[in-house]
Amino acid sequence: MADDESVATVLAGLSVPQKAALCLGSDFWHTAPVSESGIEAVMLSDGPHGLRKQPERGADAALRASVPATCFPTASALGCSWDPGLAREVGAALGAEARAQGIAVVLGPGINIKRHPLCGRNFEYFSEDPHLSGRLAAAMVDGLQSQRVGGCVKHFAANNQETDRMRVSAEVDERTLREVYLPAFEHVVAAARPWLVMCSYNKVNGEYASQHRWLLTDVLRDEWGFDGLVVSDWGAVHDRVAALRAGLDLEMPPQLGVSDRAIIDAVAAGDLDEAVLDHAAGRVLRLVYRARDRRPAGLDAAGHHALARRAAAQSMVLLKNDGVLPLTGAPGLTVAVIGEFARTPRFQGAGSSQVSPTQADVPLDELAAALPGATLRFAAGYRIEDGSPGAGTGPDLAAEAVSAATGADVALVFLGLPPAEESEGFDRAHMDLPEAQTSLLTRVAEAVPGTPLVAVLCNGGAVRTSTWDHAAAAVLECWLAGQATGSALADVLTGAVNPSGRLAETIPLRLADCPAYLNFPGEEGHVRYGEGVFVGYRGYDGLDRQVAYPFGHGLSYSTFSYSRLRVTQAGSADGGDLAVTVRCTVANTGGRAGAEVVQVYVGDPAAAVARPPRELKAFAKITLEPGAEREVTVTLTARDLSYWSALHRRWVLEPGEFRICVGASSRDIRLSAAITVEATPPALPLSGTSTLAEWLADPAGGQVLRDALGTRPDGRPAGILGSPELLAIIGSMPLATLAGFPGLGFRPGLIDALVAEVSERRRAAAQGPAGRG
Ligand code: BGC
Repeated sequence: MADDESVATVLAGLSVPQKAALCLGSDFWHTAPVSESGIEAVMLSDGPHGLRKQPERGADAALRASVPATCFPTASALGCSWDPGLAREVGAALGAEARAQGIAVVLGPGINIKRHPLCGRNFEYFSEDPHLSGRLAAAMVDGLQSQRVGGCVKHFAANNQETDRMRVSAEVDERTLREVYLPAFEHVVAAARPWLVMCSYNKVNGEYASQHRWLLTDVLRDEWGFDGLVVSDWGAVHDRVAALRAGLDLEMPPQLGVSDRAIIDAVAAGDLDEAVLDHAAGRVLRLVYRARDRRPAGLDAAGHHALARRAAAQSMVLLKNDGVLPLTGAPGLTVAVIGEFARTPRFQGAGSSQVSPTQADVPLDELAAALPGATLRFAAGYRIEDGSPGAGTGPDLAAEAVSAATGADVALVFLGLPPAEESEGFDRAHMDLPEAQTSLLTRVAEAVPGTPLVAVLCNGGAVRTSTWDHAAAAVLECWLAGQATGSALADVLTGAVNPSGRLAETIPLRLADCPAYLNFPGEEGHVRYGEGVFVGYRGYDGLDRQVAYPFGHGLSYSTFSYSRLRVTQAGSADGGDLAVTVRCTVANTGGRAGAEVVQVYVGDPAAAVARPPRELKAFAKITLEPGAEREVTVTLTARDLSYWSALHRRWVLEPGEFRICVGASSRDIRLSAAITVEATPPALPLSGTSTLAEWLADPAGGQVLRDALGTRPDGRPAGILGSPELLAIIGSMPLATLAGFPGLGFRPGLIDALVAEVSERRRAAAQGPAGRG
């Protein structure tokens, strides 16, 4: 490629200090220029749900306000759209805004798994499920990069909490990493080829992610084929040379005079191979070249606001509805609008992702516009910051709310988390809404039993609903849905948009039900991922725990039926081309056009390792007119049926039965089918520490053992192998232990001979009949 040649040419002309400089930024947001070689600096900006461009260069640039940009729905909301096409549109709009501002890279999306509801940054992450996170993130990166603006997936890896985030060591086994925490990154790398990956602050199994060679090089580059640039999270580098060796290309922000010095000295002392420096500096140059393809653009503020509104409306999740919604808009309708959040909306979280919105729709105003024939009565109900509803020195806000609701046809009660309770930088202390809000809802419900209450929620992390939702006729979860939250929720409440969001995370009945509960957020510098692969619904389902609202749940103003499930197989697992095609027919049985999210889960009922009952492996969001039906087809691969074997250090597809479940949530399975899949699992390594049962279960091992211990005159196995009762008792004993017992027929050296014979037979079997002949 022309760029690669140019990179090589420029690189060849650079000194070690110049290359070292390239591997550090030049300030908080810029890479380093090399003016003598015509290499300009490029600017990176946060992300992920809007552009956060700080207006000026300089050391304190991080603290300044950012230029106005469209605040799209945060990932907490967009994740619930289950709509990669929409995520792509948002990504493209974000990219266009970045182009308009001269930004080369947007630092997003964040794709860490929501391991626990209290993670302070859950609002920046898509889901508790890696498949859903990966699909949405890949689409978003694809959209961004369609504008020739780089995407930067973050934070790699196992950054699932804010508590002690700069130092904590996530203690997580490889199977759990491979099945839960890495696949979203893996998918984005394969499907969208992001320009950058950002390493996280934390340690993974004792090593800082910024200097974790296994993560940054062995897995990311060598296994997944990542060909972009690895950038540090801001301030994540501790040992610049170790980080460079591990695969970290660019340090941001730069420790000027420290990190560059360390690199130069290490090369001079022969401690750092200059080729390693060349690779990293070359990747920074490549980024600069890529960014040159960008064309200038104007900011389409109105168009992007309209997209933000559409995206927010597609993402809101109708958790509950006894029929009170949608609001009819009939002339003469009286609607009580209760809650300060209706007047002072909260639509994004705090920290590095915080955007200066181009505008912000106020729910109260938007409702008034959407319901022109209605009378709206507003009551603040509570104060957001101090959380008080009561009389005391000020007005009795709860009494005002009761009076607004009295005689109203419906009361919309806005509830949510105060900004001070969730942000980057710290985890939440509990998952309840402020007491002032829940007691307000209960008080209005009790005082005005004739008025149905609709709870409208705005929160980034999941909140507990089970203590109060019985008092609400309907509950609409908006999450933090961006600057158009107000107009989007008016669209959904009035039925202008039929809700189609589905939960991207489980809402538990109580925090203590969460599978990670006992292991969050850890202590003394360590957090043990003790729940293993049983994260989110994988754990709730595995433990058979009731939940408030399951993963994948969300209501529509329409209804959908599922029928005619057909599952067919083509290719073969051993041949590497297994394709399991799942087809079913979905019909809109309601009276309105609407979208359904068809979810395909896979389960392996009899597995060699503990596996979740169901795992999401495919989904499709389809829009149907009333009465219309459509066939949905998805295809699963061998990987979708496999688990990561710690023993074999690879994905293993066990032959046998799998359940394919199609449903409207992880707990609302409408159709299921069993399939039998053929595959040859990897052979167990056999040795003296392998048990007798393991030897016998292996075709080659069983045969050589039986041959060695001989047969009785009637042809049945001799000695210990002849008695099923004895075998049941001693089957779990290692062969070497048995060999030490006198009289069992093991001569000295027999085990070594057996091991050699097994590998010979396996080798011959692997070569096939031709090889043997
Ligand atoms: C955050 C990143 C962010 C970076 C730059 C860090 O504190 O963890 O997500 O991109 O700052 O603002």
